[in-house]
Amino acid sequence: MDRPLKILVVSAEAVPFAKVGGLADVAGSLPKALRQLGHDVRLALPKYSQVNEAELGLSEILELLSVPAGSGHEPASVFESAAGNVPAYLIGNDKYFDREEVYGYDDDGERFVFFCRAVLEMLKKLGWQPDVIHCNDWHTGIIPNWLKTIHKDDPFFANTATVFTIHNLAYQGIFGPELLEFAGLANYGLIPHPTDDDLSRLVVLMARGILFADVINTVSPKYAQEILTPEYGERLHPILARRCDRLFGILNGLDYELWNPATDQDIALNYNADSLERRRANKLALQQEAGLPLGSGVFLVGMISRLAAQKGFDILTEAMDQLMELDLQFILLGTGEERYHKIFANVAGKYQGQAAIFLKFDGALARRIYAGSDAFLMPSRFEPCGLGQMIAMRYGSVPIVRSVGGLADTVKDYNPNTGQGNGFTFSDYSEEAILAAVERALKTYQHKDIWQILMERGMRADFSWRASAQKYVELYHRALEFKQGES
Ligand code: ADP
Repeated sequence: MDRPLKILVVSAEAVPFAKVGGLADVAGSLPKALRQLGHDVRLALPKYSQVNEAELGLSEILELLSVPAGSGHEPASVFESAAGNVPAYLIGNDKYFDREEVYGYDDDGERFVFFCRAVLEMLKKLGWQPDVIHCNDWHTGIIPNWLKTIHKDDPFFANTATVFTIHNLAYQGIFGPELLEFAGLANYGLIPHPTDDDLSRLVVLMARGILFADVINTVSPKYAQEILTPEYGERLHPILARRCDRLFGILNGLDYELWNPATDQDIALNYNADSLERRRANKLALQQEAGLPLGSGVFLVGMISRLAAQKGFDILTEAMDQLMELDLQFILLGTGEERYHKIFANVAGKYQGQAAIFLKFDGALARRIYAGSDAFLMPSRFEPCGLGQMIAMRYGSVPIVRSVGGLADTVKDYNPNTGQGNGFTFSDYSEEAILAAVERALKTYQHKDIWQILMERGMRADFSWRASAQKYVELYHRALEFKQGES
């Protein structure tokens, strides 16, 4: 076995402490899987007011940590918790983190730069020298930047490599040039963007993570290729191109304990791949809950998603009327952009008895949709990895997806000639393409024996963290090699 590594995962959110999106799932479950492989993994995140101190067993280990900030210092306190089965350090400072929301403030740049600086100071105070600091998304992009500048000759970090994971390139952490002063990097200046003058005048924290980390990765192999192109590169593709020899893709895993139809407490009847007939009760219960006509034979398409353009709602709304002409029922659970709320409120009224629309966030209902739908729709415009399709397969709902990013890596089109495939895919970002894919799925659904095979195939597939965690270990070693090669 590889030697056990000391790894610090730094993230703005992590289950069970604070969750806004998929980043929290990864930051919560990857460390657990790495620990099972024998590594000393610890987690660092801010101590937001939403973190439930009593429930998560927080204890203060550093009361007054002095953190460089601009021309002065800011105090931080550090709390420790073992709640997620992984030692976690939570950085406290009321000015920055005692707020209603996790993100969305004008001083977000300052807030996360402060958090990162406090993390490095904390490591020194604790005398814990990680082999690898694993940074995630723009909130942590300043750390690789510091290790290659102000901490370049710091003996404490002499053997510490950085890995920077891009979970979604669309969110880049772009701030005014004054942030450099706050970060203690004013002497190093702004970084010119090769083609975009706008970005040359700003501090792009995501770009800094990409430029300075020893190794970079995204959350699926396909997305790692896509972001090198203008279509998916979100204006950072020329910067990524410079570092493409250090860019890798590792598919996110799914927490198979949290997502398990055999033990799920929120669904009508538990089942597994050997008792698929029990799924019928879940479908009927879901139709009842959604106010749809009961019937196990009608094709029930489910969708659970943030209501954002990224998720393909433009082509879906264009295709809606024609979709509703097909012999199927449709259930959507989602919240997000106001314009989509309006559109789907209309759909609900127009297609009562055929389409059920839930405009809210509801974790338990989500589980019942995964368990009760026949097919699961994800027509994303882009998708770094996507968890929905993996959860759907785990629950026996057959995915219908646009073949991009992690969706392309996990869902293969069913081919009636060879019998291969585990779902239905389409490539064009158009209403015709989405319609054609749903129609193919509907046609295949009429052949119960084939549909049964597709359901079982999804349920028996292994999308757990085991394989992916091992790939991260290899990536950490690669980062260490690059780091050692430089010194
Ligand atoms: P992203 O992280 O881009 O939103 P993913 O597919 O990676 O997309 O993960 C989305 C996760 O959030 C899934 O677990 C999905 O079930 C859940 N989810 C999304 N919207 C809702 C909602 N309205 N109610 C409950 N769960 C939701």
